[in-house]
Amino acid sequence: MNAPLPLKVTRDVAARAYDDVAKISNEVAGKLAARLAEETEGEVLFSNADKGRYATDASIYQVMPVGVFVPRTSDEVKTALAICRDLNVPIVARGGGTSQCGQTVGVGLVIDHAKYLRNILNVDVEQRSAEVEPGIVLDHLNAALKKHGLWFPVDVSTSAQATLGGMAGNNSCGSRSIAYGNMVHNVLGIRAWRSDGGLLELGRLDAASGEARALGSYVKTLSDALLPELVAHWPKVMRRVAGYNLDIFNNQSEKPYTQDGSVNLAHLLVGSEGTLGLTKSLQLRLAELPRNKVLGVVNFPTFYKAMDAAQHIVKIGDGTLTAVELVDRTMIELSLQNPVFAATVRSALIGQPEAILLVEFSGASKTELIAKIKQLVELMGELGLPGSVVEMIDDAAQKNLWEVRKAGLNIMMSLKGDGKPVSFIEDCAVPLEHLAEYTSALTEVFTKHGSKGTWYAHASVGTLHVRPILDMRREGAAKMRAIAEEASALVRHYKGAYSGEHGDGLCRGEWIEWQFGPKITQAFAQIKNHLDPLNLLSPRRMIDPPKMDDTTLMRFPPSYQVIAIKTALDWSAWNVQNNPVTEQTSAPGSGGDPANGFAKAAEMCNNNGLCRQFDAGTMCPSYRVTRDEKHTTRGRANTLRLALSGQFQGLKAQDALTSEAVKDALDLCVGCKGCKRDCPTGVDMAKMKVEFLHHYKSKHGYTFKDKLIAYLPDYAPWASRFAPLLNLRDKLPGLAFLSEKLIGLSARRTLPQWKRNTFFNTPHDTATRGEVLAASKPVVLFVDTFNAYFESENASAALKVLQAAGYTVHIASKAQPDGKSLCCGRTYLASGMVDEAKAKAREMVDALAPFAEKGIAIVGLEPSCLLTLRDEMLVMGLGDAAKTISEHALLLEEFLAREATSGKLDALKAALKPITQPILLHGHCHQKAFGAVSPIMDVLKLIPGAQPELIESSCCGMAGSFGYEASHYEVSMQMAELSLLPAVRQQPDAVVVADGTSCRHQIKDGAQREAIHVAVLLARQLRE
Ligand SMILES: Cc1cc2nc3c(=O)[nH]c(=O)nc-3n(C[C@H](O)[C@H](O)[C@H](O)COP(=O)(O)OP(=O)(O)OC[C@H]3O[C@@H](n4cnc5c(N)ncnc54)[C@H](O)[C@@H]3O)c2cc1C
Ligand code: SF4
Ligand code: SF4
Repeated sequence: MNAPLPLKVTRDVAARAYDDVAKISNEVAGKLAARLAEETEGEVLFSNADKGRYATDASIYQVMPVGVFVPRTSDEVKTALAICRDLNVPIVARGGGTSQCGQTVGVGLVIDHAKYLRNILNVDVEQRSAEVEPGIVLDHLNAALKKHGLWFPVDVSTSAQATLGGMAGNNSCGSRSIAYGNMVHNVLGIRAWRSDGGLLELGRLDAASGEARALGSYVKTLSDALLPELVAHWPKVMRRVAGYNLDIFNNQSEKPYTQDGSVNLAHLLVGSEGTLGLTKSLQLRLAELPRNKVLGVVNFPTFYKAMDAAQHIVKIGDGTLTAVELVDRTMIELSLQNPVFAATVRSALIGQPEAILLVEFSGASKTELIAKIKQLVELMGELGLPGSVVEMIDDAAQKNLWEVRKAGLNIMMSLKGDGKPVSFIEDCAVPLEHLAEYTSALTEVFTKHGSKGTWYAHASVGTLHVRPILDMRREGAAKMRAIAEEASALVRHYKGAYSGEHGDGLCRGEWIEWQFGPKITQAFAQIKNHLDPLNLLSPRRMIDPPKMDDTTLMRFPPSYQVIAIKTALDWSAWNVQNNPVTEQTSAPGSGGDPANGFAKAAEMCNNNGLCRQFDAGTMCPSYRVTRDEKHTTRGRANTLRLALSGQFQGLKAQDALTSEAVKDALDLCVGCKGCKRDCPTGVDMAKMKVEFLHHYKSKHGYTFKDKLIAYLPDYAPWASRFAPLLNLRDKLPGLAFLSEKLIGLSARRTLPQWKRNTFFNTPHDTATRGEVLAASKPVVLFVDTFNAYFESENASAALKVLQAAGYTVHIASKAQPDGKSLCCGRTYLASGMVDEAKAKAREMVDALAPFAEKGIAIVGLEPSCLLTLRDEMLVMGLGDAAKTISEHALLLEEFLAREATSGKLDALKAALKPITQPILLHGHCHQKAFGAVSPIMDVLKLIPGAQPELIESSCCGMAGSFGYEASHYEVSMQMAELSLLPAVRQQPDAVVVADGTSCRHQIKDGAQREAIHVAVLLARQLRE
């Protein structure tokens, strides 16, 4: 049943599915795939790549499922259950797959609830409750509830990815659990499919009848009989999520599960990790959105003092204390190194604290809350720490700091090398009075085992996250076990809970008996047997679990091997090892990766799932429109990792990287570099796609379209002479259709229009190389192919603006002129022609090095071109000169913003006429990735009266040539419709500024509006 199935079984081949699969693999899996395809409308994913993408979650484990099913309706879950029952195939339920303990990896059929089962079924504003399907993501639910002044307050860090079904499965806990409790405190009812196909409807016991009531009686008998055991073994802390909630009848929790002391049978399923039933819907208790919040950031000279203070801080809450969260020195340092977070963190620090506690108060009136902050300040004075509190009253400042805290774990995971911070004792909870001693003792355990922990998280409830750095490919598993055993002894000593937030899964299953003793564990087995006598639902998880250190279940077992490949780009920065104590990394290239660092770059993905997001940031546009795991950055990184480590069954290891499976996963990656910026571990899929394309195309050949796009900079000077002829494609009926049929360029697109008069054949009064090198206000303008040949007015405008600002402008040209213009190599990279791109880059280096060495800015207009100088050109083996150039390569707006700050633009400012029109700005993805959006805002604000508004958008969807390709047209338009085009349509009077050539084209195609480059707007506003 668990044998690999190298076929992608789709609905179209439903009839053949059984035969195909059965021929290659085993019979049961084939039948399963065929029946799912025949009896449902859901997605049936049985290819090796699909299974591989669902073989991992945010844990260290990896288990290949038999296949994956993505149901479209909850009734299809029931159908899948029936099929699995017939065939005796286990089922692993999955939401966002962000579990840290391996809850969602298993040998059965993985059922992905997140894609379609995400409706809000009902909201009762008066009763403050909502009924939802299990696949809805917490942030999406809360966004919908906002208009009612309500929210679901279990605010897990993964709120943008975690589904309510998964949260209930794990009994998840948010940062504010001290005020609101865990999932179990906030679930009012659950409807769930039993493995026998029946529908369990669980809620308050006093309202239960029939099967639910019988279940209640059964569990009550067990619980009552075990009362002495419960009293003796059950941890008396709020943060205990291990095992089943057998204590619903005899409460042992620091915070009772219900407010009125009643028994709610749904709580039996909360925290059951998909082992008792498959959740069909959840009834949730909502809370009023806190109207006001204030934050006191307490700075501590020692970690111990911070831990010791928590027990005193929680006493001053009077119902208004909603969080006490820890950030330690390592995390502070890592955040300071992250350009996105540095300023925010700095604003919270007094000196160089070893730890900070974020103490939040929420309530109706800000004035009352400010009084609480004063009380906190007094308390810290009494504890010997006067002047240690940063008072954050402003909402935006608080929000920014919470973002850093939420990203905490992920920031920590960005460590390069095989040693990684490993989650296995990261949520042990101890009573607050023992927190300081517990953390000190555990630190000693880490030291003893040659590792170190970085601490953060929920000090208010005694759950401190900590991950020692371990190398799971080498001695990591043995060390993990040894540390776990010593940590568990400490937890027992301090009467805490070993599993306090992230669940049991594969990692902590074996500790259930350790925690509760054999009798309670036996009762858990009886509950499991009562509800799932067939043992169909996630078998061998809560009951009869494997050993946590079973390396056959791991993603990086000692047998993990990478195939040797010669890379086109330089990945040596990833090819390093690290010191688990100092976290120092070895020299680039010394990491021992047979794939020269490319494999290690893909392995940076720790599967945390942050790329499954919709609201913030850019990452990942293709997931945003498809909602497919395959089209997340995680899905792509996993696909590459499996290919590079020879884990695609049925394919020779050397062929895997260039297989259709990898191409398929990377096809919709638009190379936006959103992940380079937003992915906390720095997975840079745009660069990986270039490397992949190089290998794929080298093997399978370049198409005419590839060449047409790649060589554009080479033939542009020639083509512009035939502009009217070439532009006929968009004028003569049928030609666009022909270009789609023959070349693959969408007939629904117009193409950029060639011009006879280009920037380069129009005379300009500019400086020579010698003149600019000698000038007092020098600048070199790099005019790229697009702005020279298609939209030369942008380059002319930039020249005009720079000259109006008093700069001596030299137009970058080749050191050895050959009639062609300088090119960054972007179009070649997009086609995977890395060698050709390198040749172009070398010419750039030869031409620009003398200016960069003199500190002269090299200014560009097209973000994707100019930023190539700061990104890909650094991994082409071009040496120090490329690095020097990258340090002086700036987008026009970056240059102008910098110059304005140092007071050099007064002349320009005085020359600008006021504007009355609203201005809408769309940032190019690469601008976003390099933090170059705020400089445009700054520059636009130089225009008197300008009030630019930034469109909160991901990728425009055009992404170079991506959106022009017929095969990508639909997806491209869907990306644009996510937010960009609606925002443009909403303001018909606004000037739309977009610096990207393809962005402007997309806006024109999708909203029929002419967007302009910032240079054009500035030039327009110049007084004559
Ligand atoms: C960086 C990071 C930060 C995190 N921070 C927190 C935090 O602050 N607090 C916290 O509690 N956790 C945290 N977690 C853990 C995890 O994100 C949460 O447990 C989250 O609620 C899981 O949601 P999910 O949709 O990803 O569920 P999944 O991981 O997909 O599933 C979770 C469990 O629920 C089961 N399940 C899913 N759907 C169903 C269904 N329909 N029926 C029955 N069972 C089902 C699964 O089988 C599994 O056992 C964090 C994880 C990461 C990677
Ligand atoms: S690609 Fe980045 S954001 Fe996505 S799961 Fe991997 S590490 Fe997380
Ligand atoms: S480059 Fe953009 S599209 Fe590609 S994986 Fe990263 S975020 Fe997604």
